[in-house]
Amino acid sequence: ENVTAPLRARAEIDLAALKANVRSLRAHAPGAAFMAVVKADAYGHGMLPVARAAKEAGAEWVGTATPEEALALRAAGIPGRIMCWLWVPGGPWREGVEADLDMSVSGLWALREVSAAARELGRTARVQLKADTGLGRGGCLRADWPELVREALAAQAAGLVTVTGLWSHFACADEPGHPSIAAQLTEFREMVGYAEGEGVTPEVRHIANSPGTLTLPETHFDLVRPGIAMYGISPSPELGTPEDFGLRPVMTLKASLALVKHAPGGLGVSYGHHYVTPGPTTLGLVPVGYADGIPRHASGTGPVLIGGKRRTVAGRVAMDQFVVDLGGDEPAAGDEAVLFGPGDAGEPTAEDWAAASGTIAYEIVTRIGSRVPRVYV
Ligand code: PLP
Repeated sequence: ENVTAPLRARAEIDLAALKANVRSLRAHAPGAAFMAVVKADAYGHGMLPVARAAKEAGAEWVGTATPEEALALRAAGIPGRIMCWLWVPGGPWREGVEADLDMSVSGLWALREVSAAARELGRTARVQLKADTGLGRGGCLRADWPELVREALAAQAAGLVTVTGLWSHFACADEPGHPSIAAQLTEFREMVGYAEGEGVTPEVRHIANSPGTLTLPETHFDLVRPGIAMYGISPSPELGTPEDFGLRPVMTLKASLALVKHAPGGLGVSYGHHYVTPGPTTLGLVPVGYADGIPRHASGTGPVLIGGKRRTVAGRVAMDQFVVDLGGDEPAAGDEAVLFGPGDAGEPTAEDWAAASGTIAYEIVTRIGSRVPRVYV
């Protein structure tokens, strides 16, 4: 919803930029279908508005981690293909079948549970077999693949499932030239080849995340599955800037200064007094903290644009607030503090916050808390 009243803090979400990013990514993978990855509340951007915008920009598929996320999308009326991949035993398979989800299956237990749900409902479940080609996380390793493929074909012959996809995920696609990329591609081709040789006829084969979509055309296969790049963030500063890829950051995080006050030199600032004013100065209070997803590791390092100048978090980030030393300048309470955004008005980027707090930009945007309203602009 649009909010015009002054707010403590807000995350402005530029849906036009998101749509342009989808189009830009599509242009990098012209032959492939497009799955908009909207898990984790669309990396903090708001799952439903993002899913709708991505569909408007031409995404045929949306993807989530959990079935609950996927079911919420369907319940909200998102049409077309919705895939989810992170199941646990006893998960909502029946609901998934009824909602026509594409459900990832990494092992026999999952295949058996989804088949049982389909049998009870008298319907056919769409399943996608996930190969662990070298991520070493989810998915079925090669040694167990023949058995999974055999059981999936038997369930398909019984009318319980349709194997709609064969897929995998990269470990190091954001590290140019990393030997695991070629090794995973070879493994993927071989595991797909095996399944197809046994009679699986997948509609889609896919492995490409954002770095694959942007930099490795040989990974595109039938579908690409970008997440972070859709939000206008480079998968890794090493690969390039968002502009290099024709992408624009979607989220801008702003707060209103809650207090501006004169302070003498020698004043210990915030918990632990890790910052002490070097002389008489002006302090500004920014009313967001780690409860809002501002990393506590950015204490003393996080950058903020206030009154046209870059400032730095002074002392510790607290649960709800942090302080900046305005150095004698006199912004007023109510003035805007921009924590991050696209960067072209002098504000820091999510990448800058990641660098300041020893993490990746994925985590910066994804962790912005539910107490910060998303404002769609
Ligand atoms: N596919 C799967 C299975 C994922 O888990 C993710 C996110 O981690 C993505 C695609 C998108 O990855 P990225 O945000 O790096 O593009």
